[in-house]
Amino acid sequence: MPESAAWTATTNAGPAPASGAALAANAAPAGRPKIDVDRMNFYYGPRRALEDIALKIYPNQVTALIGPSGCGKSTFLRSLNRMNDIVPGARLEGSIRIDDQDIYAPAVDIVDLRRRVGMVFQKSNPFPKSIFDNVAYGLRINRLVRSREELRGRVEASLKSAALWNEVGDRLHTSALALSGGQQQRLCIARALAIEPEIVLMDEPASALDPIATQRIEELIYELKTRYTIVIVTHNMQQAARVSDVTAFFWLGRVVECDRTKKIFTNPAEKLTEDYVTGRFG
Ligand code: ADP
Repeated sequence: MPESAAWTATTNAGPAPASGAALAANAAPAGRPKIDVDRMNFYYGPRRALEDIALKIYPNQVTALIGPSGCGKSTFLRSLNRMNDIVPGARLEGSIRIDDQDIYAPAVDIVDLRRRVGMVFQKSNPFPKSIFDNVAYGLRINRLVRSREELRGRVEASLKSAALWNEVGDRLHTSALALSGGQQQRLCIARALAIEPEIVLMDEPASALDPIATQRIEELIYELKTRYTIVIVTHNMQQAARVSDVTAFFWLGRVVECDRTKKIFTNPAEKLTEDYVTGRFG
């Protein structure tokens, strides 16, 4: 079967804008999507920030969200674990389903949702605590461990998963704030992984880091996809090309195109995508 035959394109319901940018082609491998977004609109007060989004995000893949600043990537990412709920006047229409459950249904337990859908931010934000206590934090407040041994084991496993154990294993009780920027970001990844999420959202996780630290984060993302569903916002197109399997190109609150990363960067269906990935605007 040719590579492209395994991937289907579906057109968004709703009227096509004059630009013809309504096509949201979903890169679809076999199996069920982990996240299924349908006819989603998102408003900050009266202003619509996302329009008619239809995207399917598959497990054990890295899905990159690219597009110019202000096009709605972070808004979309934050809506996947309801981080936008705290914004006054924010409102979502349509549905976001994770494992076929609508995460905006009234019965949804948001604490449980955020445990399942972890998040790593652009600027690393370790707590002013020890390395150990940072990673143990979510396990303790969610009462996810029954003994000190289990806690120690989970902290160690998380630091190993985040490729940080070899650097900090012998100084777990020193301050997290003494770590380098790249180590702090990997610590935040360890903290997110400790509570065993199924999905990890990353909002420009390497944009504040030097090239070597960035490379480590990228290698880590690549490794983590074997166990998690990863969605990453990046304004760095080379990074999207390096780490992701699928790329969705956002523009003015819409998804112009979503397909295999290789296709988006070498042979996109939309002229607008081509213009963006070749640097004609951005
Ligand atoms: P991106 O991540 O692509 O840079 P954002 O999702 O941050 O885009 O922003 C999309 C649009 O929503 C922008 O016009 C931005 O100004 C607006 N926006 C983002 N956050 C808020 C907020 N908390 N309140 C009001 N408007 C917001």
